[in-house]
Amino acid sequence: MSKTTVEDGGAVSAAPAQSSQSFAPGLYLVPTPIGNLQDITLRAIAVLKAATLVAAEDTRHSRILLDHLGIRAPKLMSLYDQVEERKAGTIIEEVRQGGVVALISDAGSPLINDPGYKLVSLCLQSHIAVIPLPGPCALITALEAAALPTDAFTFKGFFPVKEQELRACVAEVAERPETAVFYESPRRVLKTCEILAELLPGRQICLCRELTKSFESFYRMSSEELPDFLRADPKRTLGEFVVVIAGASHSAGGVEPEIKEALAMLLKTTPLKAAVAALSLCSKARPNELYALALTLKQSAGKES
Ligand code: SAM
Repeated sequence: MSKTTVEDGGAVSAAPAQSSQSFAPGLYLVPTPIGNLQDITLRAIAVLKAATLVAAEDTRHSRILLDHLGIRAPKLMSLYDQVEERKAGTIIEEVRQGGVVALISDAGSPLINDPGYKLVSLCLQSHIAVIPLPGPCALITALEAAALPTDAFTFKGFFPVKEQELRACVAEVAERPETAVFYESPRRVLKTCEILAELLPGRQICLCRELTKSFESFYRMSSEELPDFLRADPKRTLGEFVVVIAGASHSAGGVEPEIKEALAMLLKTTPLKAAVAALSLCSKARPNELYALALTLKQSAGKES
């Protein structure tokens, strides 16, 4: 790729979001909510209001969000993988004419397991400013809540669909020291968790379901426990999922079964932090591993009562 440097391509004014705010011409990468419609930044709304063209993965889907925000985009174009390169020319021309183009996906951050990479690349080759806005992303939201190390992690998008490839992928994860994050569909989540249990025994997992939505849940437990836990209530496999898996280095100790039992007992009468602190004195497991387990035990106990 040719070297391009674009300076000062962002908002002309740093004032709060208003429809009158003006933006320099360019391609703006605009994150949208992953469930909760309140999760959109003031700047994202301001860019969408100012956009002369909105490029969306699915225009019908995005129109619902734009309607909710009271935004009537002058032009709405569909942009998905198969047409991305073909439509890049129209977008580049729009910016050359002084336009503000907003790229949005169905949910979350564009380009993160969503279209946009080729478009960004082509815009930069044409010396078009590309301005990324920070905002909602299922991967980051899940990672923050997983109670697993975040200093190093691997994100692999969706797990492979074919079983042989899935097994090879999980076998690779088994060797890696860092936390691994995957997206998964509700149709495959149980089967995938069965394979995780088989190939990654003792590994701490946080299965994040329906992030930011009414049924948001975090199933933090050891890989072997997860399949039975999901089978126990079919509702647990409904919705959207992010799977966060502890790295090999983090899982070296694991929580001993007797400590887990003691923790479950202690949590009935003792505050979570105190229970974790007490048991970390006699367990080989790391405090944050015990803490994650305590959260899960508390969550499960709460659901049962
Ligand atoms: N660009 C998006 C982002 O920034 O996260 C991801 C798009 S990817 C095509 C869609 C997948 O992300 C879903 O199938 C699911 O695995 C995950 N995902 C999106 N929203 C989610 C949510 N609210 N809760 C859990 N997972 C979610």
